Amino acid sequence: MDLKSFIRDIPDFPKPGIVFRDITTLLRDSQGLRYTIDTLKDKCDRLSPDYVVGMESRGFLFGVPLAYQLGCGFIPVRKPGKLPGQVIAAQYQLEYGSDRLEMHIDAMAPGSKVLIVDDLIATGGTAAATAQLVQEAQCHLVGFAFIIELKALGGRNQLPDVPIVTLIDYH
Ligand code: AMP
Repeated sequence: MDLKSFIRDIPDFPKPGIVFRDITTLLRDSQGLRYTIDTLKDKCDRLSPDYVVGMESRGFLFGVPLAYQLGCGFIPVRKPGKLPGQVIAAQYQLEYGSDRLEMHIDAMAPGSKVLIVDDLIATGGTAAATAQLVQEAQCHLVGFAFIIELKALGGRNQLPDVPIVTLIDYH
């Protein structure tokens, strides 16, 4: 299936010069959605994570169904002030701004195997910050999974040396 055909490009969003890769047009297609989750599941199975960690908010959209298919739990990483319990935090850079990410301090038992999932990797700042949270929680990072990789930004060079699963590339 040509997954890229389901992605809608929106120029100059959220600011001039950015081409926004819109995954809502993938999510709304029943076959595209099923194929996406099934393919992620096939590619991530061998990593045998105990938890999928997904970042707010589009990481939730793919992370929860993937965790369900892998038979593991899901841990949300959220923007500041959203999680009710005690949190650990990491600073990160976006392609268009900067922010902080938070995770519950007691989300996972130390030593748990973790797969980090987001919709897209651009500069890699978001995923690298999430990897820091996983490390701070003394968990074992087994890999990353992204629907889309913006190759030209070299985001994967910011990440620890673990397997990186991607489904769609832009050069
Ligand atoms: P980065 O931290 O630079 O790798 O940015 C990744 C995060 O920003 C992901 O959560 C994406 O959802 C979002 N993002 C960055 N650039 C784009 C883009 N061109 N189109 C859609 N989402 C983007």
